[in-house]
Amino acid sequence: MSLFSAVQMAPRDPIFGLNDQFTQDANPNKVNLGVGVYLTDEGKLPLLECVRLAEQAMLESPQARNYLPMDGIAAYDAAVKALVFGAQSDVVTSGRVATVQSLGGTGGLKIGADFLHQLNPGAKALVSNPTWANHNAIFKNAGFEVGSYTYYDAAGRKVDFDGMLADLRAAAPGTVVVLHACCHNPTGYDLTAAQWDRVVDLVREKQLVAFLDMAYQGFGQGIKEDATAIEKFTASGLSFFVSTSFSKSFSLYGERVGAVSVVTQDKSETERVLSQLKITVRTNYSNPPTHGASIVASVLQNTELRALWEKELGEMRIRIQSMRHALVAGLTAAGVTQDMSFITTQAGMFSYSGLSKDQMVRLRSEFGVYGTDSGRMCVAALNTHNVGYVAKAIAAVL
Ligand code: PMP
Repeated sequence: MSLFSAVQMAPRDPIFGLNDQFTQDANPNKVNLGVGVYLTDEGKLPLLECVRLAEQAMLESPQARNYLPMDGIAAYDAAVKALVFGAQSDVVTSGRVATVQSLGGTGGLKIGADFLHQLNPGAKALVSNPTWANHNAIFKNAGFEVGSYTYYDAAGRKVDFDGMLADLRAAAPGTVVVLHACCHNPTGYDLTAAQWDRVVDLVREKQLVAFLDMAYQGFGQGIKEDATAIEKFTASGLSFFVSTSFSKSFSLYGERVGAVSVVTQDKSETERVLSQLKITVRTNYSNPPTHGASIVASVLQNTELRALWEKELGEMRIRIQSMRHALVAGLTAAGVTQDMSFITTQAGMFSYSGLSKDQMVRLRSEFGVYGTDSGRMCVAALNTHNVGYVAKAIAAVL
């Protein structure tokens, strides 16, 4: 009898499991559209020039690495606040935001969820249906009972906004509502500014707690445009949460750079909230790592590097949009007669293709084209060399 004899095999993570399957696939034409990672037209993970320059400067004046404070690098937290809310925004200048550096966006969600559960152990959390699978797991592990709110209208290929409002209206006061600030994962369908106004009104009326997940800022319409939801919540005067990820926008996936920001009612609340967030960090991993956040802080705070980052992020966004158009053109060229133009109206790294599980399995086994069983494909991994092949493969299974 071993200590571990009763341990069950955990289910494979659907996305990272797909990656393993992809690696083992011998098909020379294989294309990985599973994981949400941006690749260049050459199919390579980019090292952004702004990141390279910031790292070079760090190498030229090497620093010793003491422990960071529990909430991370002060200059980084300040830069995150300025990026997320605007340096001159009232919430920032009046000291109403507590920001903590985190291990990617995932870490920001986890710190926020742990704190929220301690604050109100009886509250439920609602995530969008469908959503990034880890939303469910993170809030469940933090102790929440997790439910979902309607989001996607599969037949209409759009947001089921009435369904969403009805579900939010039915939620009990104190319910935490996890919202995708932009580039909804997996559907690619975002709310309009007017729809965000109605969500803000409902959150206020029903006394819900909004938790905005911002993992793709700059990949939708632009850095500022993608922050519409945050602007609306900031203007509302409500208290709310924002998680930030720089994994995609800086192509720093492996450095684990993110943050959680909590907007409060006044400076004294901010200090108290910050002290609790720090304890959450302390009791999980004590303090965050230095390298990735130093890069992001120096890029965001240096005028030239910041301009270079915006340019490079813009290029990634535009390349994805051009691949969306190329995919639709490729489908038409491959003889698909149904209207696939919805692919060009979705925002961010993903396209919810509407393909069934069987069709996705065929794409993998017959063509080596890997997307998730839900029909999600990462269009940020398409390039001028593989898009025609992918279009023909999709056409063959449609
Ligand atoms: N939220 C969403 C919606 C995501 O898609 C992701 C990344 N796939 C994250 C959060 C987590 O980001 P990170 O990799 O920085 O932890």
